[in-house]
Amino acid sequence: MISDPPVPSTFISPVTVFSAETLLFTPATPSADAAPVIFAFPNEYSVGITSLGYQVIWATLAMRPDLQVSRLFTDIHDPLPGHPELVGFSFSWELDYVNILSLLESLNLPLRSADRSDAHPLIFGGGPVLTANPEPFADFFDLVLLGDGEGLLDAFIDAYQQVRLADRLTQLRHLAQVPGVYVPSLYQVTYKATDGEIERIDPVDEAIPAQVQKQTYRGSTLLASTVVTEKAAWESIYMVEVVRSCPEMCRFCLASYLTLPFRTASLEASLLPAIERGLQVTNRLGLLGASVTQHPEFESLLDHLDQPQYDDIRLSIASVRTNTVTAKLARLLVKHDTRSITIAVETGSDRLRRIINKKLDNDEIVTAAINAKAGGLSAIKLYVAG
Ligand code: SF4
Repeated sequence: MISDPPVPSTFISPVTVFSAETLLFTPATPSADAAPVIFAFPNEYSVGITSLGYQVIWATLAMRPDLQVSRLFTDIHDPLPGHPELVGFSFSWELDYVNILSLLESLNLPLRSADRSDAHPLIFGGGPVLTANPEPFADFFDLVLLGDGEGLLDAFIDAYQQVRLADRLTQLRHLAQVPGVYVPSLYQVTYKATDGEIERIDPVDEAIPAQVQKQTYRGSTLLASTVVTEKAAWESIYMVEVVRSCPEMCRFCLASYLTLPFRTASLEASLLPAIERGLQVTNRLGLLGASVTQHPEFESLLDHLDQPQYDDIRLSIASVRTNTVTAKLARLLVKHDTRSITIAVETGSDRLRRIINKKLDNDEIVTAAINAKAGGLSAIKLYVAG
């Protein structure tokens, strides 16, 4: 039986917070035998609800009538089921690691997968941290979903429903067959030496896949907000994912390598309709992606947003590639209430940039600054390696 987590010292009423949400999807009415699920974000509500990934996964779960989904953040939560069957975490930032353990503790659940029994829910997780390297967290998760959530999440839940009444080991062995689902307890790690270097990782038997394939979504409809709220860290923002990954492949960059290949949202079929939907409920628009300005139709998107009917929107844009900062982009941002732009130059040395495959020289940084000023921006934020 799960008990409610302790009330934080600065109490925020969940009713007040959740009632401020405008949903852009229609939650299903759970069926009588819907599986109770807790879907958690290991940080405060304002942070979690600003995560586009969390929003979309929550909506995907909540639109299934075979699930009864309750949300859990570190400060507030929905009424929680006494006996959840699944507890999921969206894991975006490594520093939230400790909060996952705290939430498991607050739910009176064993921290380690090995200590859980048939009486406990299955603990699953996904998101960039786990996809990048699940091993540091392998002891704590029963299941890890690797790669893009589109398709993978529904395949996972469909497979779970097939073995819902089975014992825990049967469930795990069945779910391990779903492409992209990694069940750490079904693999044995052999180390070369006591210093921790891994020699090999083998499945416990031949029925378990030898390798788990990270899932890659190939469609041209990318993510868009499913909820808008003034309580988000970026107040009342509606977010659209313009691109996924980045074609530049700077050697150090997880945002590029983790999510390759570079994919773009279809402007006419996906991006513009999504923007229209969002602007029905808010006037704040965020364009997200590791390399937004490299969308092949970015100029057309700027022209579209430059029309008079969009004059009152507040436009935010993720970090842009330095040599794509134009006066036109700067002017549009200024017109839409943005005063500064962020560029990642990494270092002041052209030579170091060549070594890390950052295809940028100092002259281009100066040109970006000139263009930003010409467009009316008053500040540039530089990301530089410390
Ligand atoms: S340009 Fe930026 S997002 Fe793209 S690979 Fe380089 S650091 Fe990553």
